[in-house]
Amino acid sequence: MIITFYGGAGGVTGSKHLVEAQGKRLLLDCGLFQGLQDVRERNRALPFEPDSIDGVVLSHAHVDHCGMLPILVKRGFAGKIYATPATRDVAYHMMKDVAGIEVQDAIYRAKHKIGAPDDRVPLYTPADVEPVMERFEEIPYARHDASWHELWPGWRLKFYDAGHILGSAITMLEVDNGGGKKRLVYTGDVGAKNVPLLYDPEVPEEEVETVLTESTYGGRDHEPLEQAIERMAQVINKVVDRGGKIIVPAFSLGRTQMIVYILHKLTDEKKIPRVPIFVDSPLAVEVTDVFKEHKDDYDKETVVDFSHAVRPLTFRNLTYVRDIEESKSLNVKPGPYVVISASGMMSSGRVVHHLRHSISDPRNAVLITGYQAQGTMGRQLLEGVKKVELLGDLFPVKAEVEVFNEFSAHPDHQELKEYLGRFKGVKRVFLVHGEAEQAEEFKRELERKHPEWQVRYPMEGESWEA
Ligand SMILES: [Zn+2]
Repeated sequence: MIITFYGGAGGVTGSKHLVEAQGKRLLLDCGLFQGLQDVRERNRALPFEPDSIDGVVLSHAHVDHCGMLPILVKRGFAGKIYATPATRDVAYHMMKDVAGIEVQDAIYRAKHKIGAPDDRVPLYTPADVEPVMERFEEIPYARHDASWHELWPGWRLKFYDAGHILGSAITMLEVDNGGGKKRLVYTGDVGAKNVPLLYDPEVPEEEVETVLTESTYGGRDHEPLEQAIERMAQVINKVVDRGGKIIVPAFSLGRTQMIVYILHKLTDEKKIPRVPIFVDSPLAVEVTDVFKEHKDDYDKETVVDFSHAVRPLTFRNLTYVRDIEESKSLNVKPGPYVVISASGMMSSGRVVHHLRHSISDPRNAVLITGYQAQGTMGRQLLEGVKKVELLGDLFPVKAEVEVFNEFSAHPDHQELKEYLGRFKGVKRVFLVHGEAEQAEEFKRELERKHPEWQVRYPMEGESWEA
C-alpha cells in the first residue's frame, strides 16, 4: 500500500491523500486550497490524472475536503464517491456555494480586468456540481450497519463517526493482497468531545497499523465549554438589558447550528430572555435544513436536552432569514436581538452589513466564536483596533467585542493524543491537516507517549509505503 500526500500535507487546506494498492487508486478527500494569494493557482491544476482515480472517500463536507470534486468529475473521474448520507447532502450545498462565489468573482474580475484572462473564469459553476451528485454512494456509519462495504475485490471499508460536523466520518480501510490484510484509518477532521448535537469521536473496533490523522490545534485548553456557555449567557443578558444588538459571526456549516443549539437551550432554561434570534445566511439556512433531515445522526444528549420533540434547531423566537430584503430590514430594527450571520471571519457575506450598522454603538456586542485568520476583519476586531473599514467606509469600533475560543470543532492536542491512544495495533501515524509548528510539536508529543509508533509529518508530494 502506497500513500501519497497531495494537499492538506504540510498545511491545513486542500486535503487530498492517494492510497494505491492492488492496481487501484483511492483518493481520500478532494479539497480546495483556501486562504493565501497563491491558492487560485493551486486550485487550477490537479496533481494527478482524474481518470486514473478509481474512487474517492469523502470524510466530511467542509470545502477544504470536498471543494475540488466538481473539477475532478469535470476532468474525467468516473468512479464512485463514498460518503455518509449527511455528508453527501451537506456537500451539495457547500459545492454550490463555492460555485456561486466563483461565478460572482469571475464577473467582478472580468469587469475590473483583474489578473490574467485565465483568472477571470470561474473554477467551476453551479451546473458542474450536479454530475458530482450522481457519483455518490452512501455508506452509513458502522453504528447503523456494522458490515464492511466492498469497493473492489480485496478492498473494503467502514465508517465511524468523527464528531467534527454532521456526517463526518472516520474511514477504516482494509486491503487484502491475497498474502495478508493491511488496515489504514483516515480520521479526516476529528471533533472535540461534548460538542452539542454531535457524537464524540468514535474509536474503531478493529486493529489498525496505519493512521492518517489531522493535527489542527483546537485550542480549547482555556475554560470548559459549559463555562463558556455561562459566560455567553451573561454577555447576552447584559446587552439585552441595555437594548443592544448581539452580532454573532459564524461559519454556515457547524458553528451556526452549534450556536443555535446553545441559544435554544439557554432560552428554554430561562438563562437568557426570549429575545428575537435570526440566522441570516442563505447557506446556513440550507445547511440547517439538511441537519433537520438527519436527526439519526444527533447524539444522545440532544435527545435528553430536547426530549419533547428533538427539534434543537427550531424554536419560537428563532427566524431563518433567506430573503435579502428581510436581511436588510434587520439593519434598521432596534435591539435587543441576536443575529447569527456569515462569514465567520467577517471578511464577506451579510455579516459585514450587520457590522456596518452596529459596530459604532456601545450598546451592541460582537461575539467571536471561531478562529480568525490573519488579514481578516475578525482578526482586526480580535486585536482591538479602534477603527474598521467596512465596504469602503471607516467606522469607529465602539461595540463590545467578546471572544469565545471554546467552541472549536477540533480537539486540543491533549484530547487528540488520548483519543489516538485508544486505537489498537498502531505502528505508524501520518500527521496531516496541520500547520508545521503545531504538527511538529504534536509529533514530538506522540513520540514521547508512544515510542513504538513511527510518526511522520509528510510534505506535499511525498509518498510512503504502509
Ligand atoms: Zn473540517
